[in-house]
Amino acid sequence: MGKIIQLDEWLSNKIAAGEVVERPASVVKELVENAIDAKSTVIEIDVEEAGLGKIRIIDNGVGIDEEDVLLAFQRHATSKIKNENDLFRIRSLGFRGEALPSIAAVAKIDMATATGEGAGTRVVIEGGKLLKHEKTSSRKGTDITVTNLFFNTPARLKYMKTLHTELGNITDVVNRLALAHPEVAIRLRHQDRMLLQTNGNGDIRQVLAAIYGVNIAKKMIPLNISSLDFEVNGYIALPEITRASRNYISTMINGRFIKNYPLVKAIQEGYHTLLPIGRYPIVMLSVKMDPILVDVNVHPAKLEVRLSKEKELCLLIADAIKSAFKKQELIPSGVEAV
Ligand code: ADP
Ligand code: MG
Repeated sequence: MGKIIQLDEWLSNKIAAGEVVERPASVVKELVENAIDAKSTVIEIDVEEAGLGKIRIIDNGVGIDEEDVLLAFQRHATSKIKNENDLFRIRSLGFRGEALPSIAAVAKIDMATATGEGAGTRVVIEGGKLLKHEKTSSRKGTDITVTNLFFNTPARLKYMKTLHTELGNITDVVNRLALAHPEVAIRLRHQDRMLLQTNGNGDIRQVLAAIYGVNIAKKMIPLNISSLDFEVNGYIALPEITRASRNYISTMINGRFIKNYPLVKAIQEGYHTLLPIGRYPIVMLSVKMDPILVDVNVHPAKLEVRLSKEKELCLLIADAIKSAFKKQELIPSGVEAV
């Protein structure tokens, strides 16, 4: 008698959720990314008790067709890629078809979605069980509420840090998405406190001002460079403004916030000796490159990516920052980085 069994879908979703839904901020990240992929121009995020009480995200994107609504909650069901060819040319933030089923496995989701004005669909799913599936009248777009997060994964719930920390993680995630997508108006509210509001006019400096304050945004200079393979746009703070951690260096590739140590090193190298030891700059750089040069399929949360031509990109950025400051006459000529 064999001992191996095939786990049912609901159990395998719960296992996948362990990777995709680490904490409330992961839910916010996945849902806002879905809203961005759905071409929304306005996204409203309302959070209670640092996301453990409630997360509600309303977008004005394309919505989900009635016949697709339940499919969207199946694992590996996605509208974003169709074949292997697409996998190597990812242009969307999502593509794995894991977020909705994962969240629905460890929480309660109440979602209303419509592809046009008027008639839409509402589903309520909790712990992988479909509780409601009905027609509803709604605006074009998707309105999704997540409650009871981790109600059936007690160990995960226990692992949550203080509400302050969890809310900080949510703010970080939303700030980065807003920086990567200045063309989308994003609003984040925690209970009755407005934490972020961008106007969606495409101006990165406006988003920087919303996040770091007007005074800092004023002390950031634009950096726009391109080469055969890359187009880099963003802002770098004058060296007089420093921070004690690298967290204020944000790097985006094709609209996705990523963590890439060599890129961060290159940015620091660009500042050369202008920064005191142990201090880091505020930087936001958005890189556009052929998706074929970016492997996003490294980790479920897609924070890490593999880049072809990484060295070239690092050199380009370090040199551009150096010459930007040379123009500002901050680096005495004759002092060259090795
Ligand atoms: P993925 O984003 O990797 O495709 P998800 O589980 O996050 O997987 O979502 C599954 C599908 O549901 C998406 O491919 C998309 O078609 C649809 N979807 C999810 N959220 C939205 C939204 N806010 N607006 C429109 N469609 C959505
Ligand atoms: Mg998704």
